[in-house]
Amino acid sequence: MKTKIVWFRNDLRLHDNQCLVEAIEKSDQIVAVFVFDPRLFGTGKFGFPKSGSFKANFLMEAVSELKKSLQNCGSDLLVLKGKPEELLPEVAIKYNASAIYFSKEVTPEEVKIEDELLKALSKKNIDWKMFSTFTLIETENLPFPLHQMPQMFTKFRKLVEGDLQINKPLVTPIKIESPLLDQNQMPDLADFGIPIPVADNRSAFPCKGGEKQGQKRVTEYLWDKDLLKNYFDTRNGLIGTDYSSKFSPWLAIGCLSPRYIYAEVKRYEAERIENKSTYWLIFELLWRDFFHFTAAKHYNRFFAQDGYNNAPKREWEDNREKFDKWKEGNTGVDFIDANMRELKNTGFMSNRGRQNVASYLINDLKVNWLMGAEYFESMLIDHDVCSNYGNWSYLAGIGADPRENRIFNIEKQANNYDPKGEYRKLWLN
Ligand code: FAD
Repeated sequence: MKTKIVWFRNDLRLHDNQCLVEAIEKSDQIVAVFVFDPRLFGTGKFGFPKSGSFKANFLMEAVSELKKSLQNCGSDLLVLKGKPEELLPEVAIKYNASAIYFSKEVTPEEVKIEDELLKALSKKNIDWKMFSTFTLIETENLPFPLHQMPQMFTKFRKLVEGDLQINKPLVTPIKIESPLLDQNQMPDLADFGIPIPVADNRSAFPCKGGEKQGQKRVTEYLWDKDLLKNYFDTRNGLIGTDYSSKFSPWLAIGCLSPRYIYAEVKRYEAERIENKSTYWLIFELLWRDFFHFTAAKHYNRFFAQDGYNNAPKREWEDNREKFDKWKEGNTGVDFIDANMRELKNTGFMSNRGRQNVASYLINDLKVNWLMGAEYFESMLIDHDVCSNYGNWSYLAGIGADPRENRIFNIEKQANNYDPKGEYRKLWLN
């Protein structure tokens, strides 16, 4: 009996999952595993929990839904708690598996785990294969080698758009052969000492984790509510669920495949309308790819305080007092405070809000951008390490495209995007 292990990481889905599809094709049965790694729930350099309540809860929901979906296909998900590099070789031996298949990550902490795992597997003569399941464009389809990744988004976009090759989403398996797995239970937030998040009815993101939930949102945004056709004009909104797609939390942990979204947008263009808005959603997904490939190229330097593009050095202050006022939404600048309170109470903030609060921390308070990024990492329900650190360093002027000055005039922004003060009223009262 040929058995393969599928280790689910940031690819928590059955649709368009090359890792899963190939494992099924190349074996008689698979053992699907998810590992809750305690390091995911540790603390960062500045003392913030790596996973705050909203983010951790969304992940739990997604893993739990994945388990149910696998059970519906006749399989199951083995849910473990510990270090993947220690547990996975044991699982492979126990189920007599010849190989472990998993999705490749590109950032140092995650790659270190991969390296340790590969060392442990080679000692035990267990094979492995890694897949790229995260981006819209596969690394192999980039029209340049990774080390020639352009420094600027516009150059990247023009090069990839000139020769855009997006693979079609792979078929979703409906029947999966698996051995009977050991009894295992989903942990809960309390197991990691994380409080249960309290729902806030003002939230722009009242949704749940999981692949089906993500696909439901795609259907709702494109087909049921027909919102995509106006995306370009609404995307800078601040209130409610519909001003932007809200696909990001599902994309961040792979409940949604960007190639699935791309295919749905193309179908929408064929069946409804093709316009600037439909183009712009794909344009935004290219930003996501841009930061992913930039992180892969610069690796440790992507996270360096002085950035990765030889920009002039800046002085950064680790000023707790200023930082805490910002974090709690107590700076006295109403637009900043409203956004920071939305984040604190819901785990989400609009793109417009993120740009403003980041610019304010960096340029007005002159606080270390890495502190802001780490706080976002803890809080954001859609935290994606490449998009988060990439956007922060870009706004700090030391990351991608360091030429321009990205200082936001907060008062002007508030007047433009919240002219009647409704957003500020919502979060400050
Ligand atoms: P939409 O406007 O509907 O966009 C569609 C998709 O395009 C998003 O879901 C996202 O996957 C992608 N996208 C859009 N804008 C960007 C961008 N600037 N960079 C990268 N991808 C983008 N996005 C994250 O997914 N995770 C993060 O941790 C994250 N941190 C950020 C930190 C800062 C300081 C800033 C300024 C932006 C950050 N973003 C992050 C980007 C952006 O704010 C969110 O992707 C967006 O607000 C999510 O809402 P949406 O899905 O409705 O976006």
